[in-house]
Amino acid sequence: MPDLVCARCAGPLQTPELTGDWQCPTHGVVEPLHAALPADPHHLADVARSSAVPVWLAWPLPPDWTLTGVRRTGGTGPGHAVAVSYTGPGVTARLAELIVVAEEPGSGLGAAYAGLPDPDPGPELTHAPYDTRIVTSGQRTPLWSVPAPDCAAYVGEAAGRWIWALVWPMDEFMVLHDDLHLVDARRPEHQPRLEGLPTGALSPRLAQRPVG
Ligand SMILES: [Zn+2]
Repeated sequence: MPDLVCARCAGPLQTPELTGDWQCPTHGVVEPLHAALPADPHHLADVARSSAVPVWLAWPLPPDWTLTGVRRTGGTGPGHAVAVSYTGPGVTARLAELIVVAEEPGSGLGAAYAGLPDPDPGPELTHAPYDTRIVTSGQRTPLWSVPAPDCAAYVGEAAGRWIWALVWPMDEFMVLHDDLHLVDARRPEHQPRLEGLPTGALSPRLAQRPVG
């Protein structure tokens, strides 16, 4: 699997033959990150089959939004972090982009896309009132804003995993609101939805980040 890179910096990794783990020279033992894939139904279905975390599908999609890619971690075993990207018309910007990451603690993929050095939010996060809410698998899900260099970054917990919702440009954060529903594409009842979803060209941001 020569294309696997560090989930936190996209740098090259030492393969597990020697130590049993994927190792980044900077970040130590990390999740190996696969190349980003276009959001074709068969790619989404493959990722959903091999994922230990939710594959968050915006359903219904906001009007005129498209799926623009999916990217997962995991060597030979299941992925512990999955990112799904969406692009659509912004309120003020011509184009806005949303990347939703589900991950197990320590994966660091969401933080890396947000441009943050630490893999997980601090424990003080939920001491403040939440900043917005979305719906995940039918549950109201509070999200807290985290300062990030170039996007509106929100993080919370859904289905027992971290969920990161990152929006570019920063002032298009309004796409995250009470009526945005995410469903887990791993669930059998949602897999028929993967066919016929509106998809766009692979997101360069999803493909090129995290840049470390
Ligand atoms: Zn790294």
